[in-house]
Amino acid sequence: MPKLDFGAAVIGAGVVGISVARALAARTPTLLLERLPAPATLTSARNSGIVHAGLYHPPNSLKTRLCLRGAALLQTFCETRDIPFHRVGKLVVAQSQPEAAFLHNLHAHASALAVPTQFLTRGRLLMLEPDICAGEAVLLSPNTAIVDTSALIAALLADVQTHSADIAFGSTVTGIRRADVGSGWILDVSCGDLPSISISADCVVNAAGHDSCRLANLTSLEKFTPHYCKGTYFAYSGPARPKHLIYPCPNKDLAGLGIHLTLDTAGQIRFGPDTEWARHLFGLR
Ligand SMILES: Cc1cc2nc3c(=O)[nH]c(=O)nc-3n(C[C@H](O)[C@H](O)[C@H](O)COP(=O)(O)OP(=O)(O)OC[C@H]3O[C@@H](n4cnc5c(N)ncnc54)[C@H](O)[C@@H]3O)c2cc1C
Repeated sequence: MPKLDFGAAVIGAGVVGISVARALAARTPTLLLERLPAPATLTSARNSGIVHAGLYHPPNSLKTRLCLRGAALLQTFCETRDIPFHRVGKLVVAQSQPEAAFLHNLHAHASALAVPTQFLTRGRLLMLEPDICAGEAVLLSPNTAIVDTSALIAALLADVQTHSADIAFGSTVTGIRRADVGSGWILDVSCGDLPSISISADCVVNAAGHDSCRLANLTSLEKFTPHYCKGTYFAYSGPARPKHLIYPCPNKDLAGLGIHLTLDTAGQIRFGPDTEWARHLFGLR
């Protein structure tokens, strides 16, 4: 009979669920549940792999605190574990006066957060990125980095296993409810054609990505509505060999930071992601 009672259960083995399971497994018997046959195959495998420097979020916000602390912890983790992590830096390019004004505000905002940024002179820009045509100004964020997300996920998952956590692939959480006795939770879990089983845990972490609103709504009085958005990348194989991430000034009417040039740790260049709102999850395929 498999063990069905845990200190903690984490739903979803994306980068968030795996990281949370890694931390919890060091403290309590932990179960990581993933409905797909392998870890981190969805959003966690389809992103830009950028470690943001924390330029944009409001001061004193949780996002700023987590971004700054997370970036520092991530760099140390990658260095300790030999995971490719490169501080390539990011350039934000202003093509008009209003965009230049935006960059000056961004520079002041970053300085207030103690996040380094600097304007490039035309000479320095020519030296660093001769292919950039900047109408007005270019701001450099030297701390923005890229990470090898596959290597990162493999290392985090290895730690989860080292702490003897249980990992159940092909296991979909279909129901969550309070236990009749005590302060814990009961999860209904379906595993393919097998009969559904119930698992108990003192604490449950919902890291189910696209499914997290639906799962939260099973237990929470506050109801959440998901808003799905699809991003597509465009591969580039032309002669230019930029060394930095290159961003436009964000357009207020669009979600995201605008289509930018991304580099990965293997040197591949892509443009993206664009933003395409989708009414349903199946519209994202
Ligand atoms: C186009 C794009 C680019 C991005 N670029 C960056 C970037 O450069 N830098 C950055 O920091 N962030 C970036 N992000 C954001 C980042 O990728 C996400 O924040 C992160 O991957 C979310 O991870 P997650 O573990 O929460 O979700 P996911 O990776 O979606 O993982 C959730 C997991 O839960 C599983 N699951 C769902 N429902 C259930 C269930 N009922 N039972 C069991 N398992 C379930 C799923 O199968 C999945 O494996 C980007 C996002 C997008 C879309």
